[in-house]
Formats: sequence, structure tokens, C-alpha cells
Amino acid sequence: MLVVMEAGASPEQVEAVVRHIEKLGLKAHPIPGAHRTAIGVTGTQGSKNPATVENFPGVKEVIAVTQAYKLVSREAKPDDTIVNVGGVDVGGNGVIVVGGPCAVETSDQTRTIAERIKRGGGQLFRGGAYKPRTSPYSFQGLGEQGLEILARVREEFDLPIVTEAIDDASLKLVDQYADCIQIGARNMQNFSLLKSAGRARKPVLLKRGMSATLEELLLSAEYIMSEGNYNVMLCERGVRTFSDHTRNTVDLSIVPAIKRISHLPILVDPSHGTGKRNKVLPMSRAAIAVGADGVLVEVHHKPEEALSDGPQAILPDTFDQLVREVDAIAGVLGRSLQPALAAS
Ligand code: PEP
Ligand code: MN
Repeated sequence: MLVVMEAGASPEQVEAVVRHIEKLGLKAHPIPGAHRTAIGVTGTQGSKNPATVENFPGVKEVIAVTQAYKLVSREAKPDDTIVNVGGVDVGGNGVIVVGGPCAVETSDQTRTIAERIKRGGGQLFRGGAYKPRTSPYSFQGLGEQGLEILARVREEFDLPIVTEAIDDASLKLVDQYADCIQIGARNMQNFSLLKSAGRARKPVLLKRGMSATLEELLLSAEYIMSEGNYNVMLCERGVRTFSDHTRNTVDLSIVPAIKRISHLPILVDPSHGTGKRNKVLPMSRAAIAVGADGVLVEVHHKPEEALSDGPQAILPDTFDQLVREVDAIAGVLGRSLQPALAAS
């Protein structure tokens, strides 16, 4: 259910509605917008009837939300959400480029790549300290030591950090060290992890599961938001298909499909999406052309020595070109590259 307040409703009137909903044992999620505040109501309704708030002062209307997802929908919030990641806005009129290695391997490797991401015009830095690998014998990441390296990179290069959490223990540490918590494709439906991410302080980048539908992706975002963390970004990273010329198939049409029904920003990851270095640049161009709010790409200065995902890592020089071309294509659409943080 959605309670839509009058344009001129006072904060006290909003508060009175919130208190009433909470008294019924339900959860109230005030959603301020450019023109009006709405209050999302979630929880198991049972015999409680929250529609009684219709007669409260300042209430314009009460709408039953028919889709399974509520807080993520444009019905709840017509304007685009802009998520602030360590000082960089994601969503709205700006587009961003997130770059970095698949995994944090050593301090030197991470610093070398970070320097090129910053110089090339990337806004955010990525790199896994906890790697969910198909084989238990593959490199699993440096753990907390990797997070310490990332935190130092942030200070040295003024690059906010996006890094993955794979369970509750790593989520607590990522929340502490990083600027954005990535939930990977393999954990998109780890509902207890999603709830924990919903109670974390940092924004969440939620990647689409490799066989997840649009509705499943949105419901996973709903899990995070229903716990009170409204700073959620989605990421299309390719889905499994019969095509064997790429690792996955980047489903670019999900971008306009999401934009129609959700206010959340959406990025595209053509690195995992294609698994092939030579496809990352063309698919990045395409992602911006279909309206993505940015791209997330894997970059390595020595991809042949990378401990994971070397074949899909682009070289730093290609990253420079990618940022330039993303900016040019965004310009055609009346958008522009979000400014990176100024060096402090
Ligand atoms: C990653 O971004 O490093 C990663 C493991 O991605 P995904 O969860 O999309 O496979
Ligand atoms: Mn990877």
C-alpha cells in the first residue's frame, strides 16, 4: 500500500501517518519526492487495515500496490533515485564508469590499476577482497587484508570503493571499509544476506543473478529496501543463454525495461557480461546508448598474470578510450559523465 501525501503536507502530518502505521505493527517508509511525499507500507497486513489513514490530515490518497515489488517501483517514487557513493552521485543525469581489477591481489597491483582508473577519468574503483569462485581451489581473495588495501587506495587516489560481500561476516567488514557493498550474481537471492545489506549503512550494488528475471531482480532489491536501506543500485551482468561466443549474454533490454518501472539506477557490467576483453568496449558504448547510468568494467595492467578473470580484463589504455567514448555517447543523450572526486 502507498499513502500519497498532499504536496503541501507538513512534516508533522507525515509523522502522524508513520506513527499510525507503525502502531498497527507495519513498517512505514517515507519516500520524499520532488512534488510530494509518499509513504510505502510493508509488512504482513492480516486483519489490520492501514487504509484508515485516508482520513488523516495531509493525506491525498491511499493506493493499493498490485505488483509484488513496491518500494522499488515508480508508483512509490516517480523521480529517479540518485545514490551517493562516497561523494559520487549515481543516477540522474550523470553517468559513471566504475573500473578496477576483478580481485585485489597485492597492494602494488591495486595501486597501479587505481592510478590508471583515476587518470583515465573513472569515478569509482572496484576490486574483490572476497571472491565467490566456482572452484574451491581458485583464488578466494585476500579478505580483510584486501579491504585494507582498498581503503588505502581510496585515500591515495580519492576513489570511492565498491567491493563484494559474500556472507554476514564479510558484509560487516565491507560496510566498515568500503563506500559501496556489492552483492554478486551468485548471492542475488541469498535473502538473509539481502536483509543484512538492508540494515547496513552503505549503499548496495545488486548484481542480477545469472538466470534471474527482471521481477526476481526487483524483488531482491525490495528485500534490501524493506529493511530501510534505500540506496540501492542494480547491475545487469549478463545471463546464461545458448550463445557460446561469449561467457554470458548481456541483456541490454533490461535497462529500458527497468527504467519504465523502477526509479533505481542501473549499471551494466560488460566484463562478466561477455567474458571477452574485445567485447567490453563495444558493449559499454551500447549500455550507455540504451540508458544505463554507467558501466562497471574490469581493468588489469597485466591481465595474463591476473589471479581471476584475466581474459575479460581490459588494459588501462582501453579504459582511457572507454571513458572518452562513454562521455561522448552520453552527450548525444543530453547526459554527461559525472565529475570524479577532486584530489584532496
Ligand atoms: C565481480 O564483479 O567480480 C563478480 C564476481 O561479478 P558477478 O557476481 O556478476 O559474477
Ligand atoms: Mn570478475
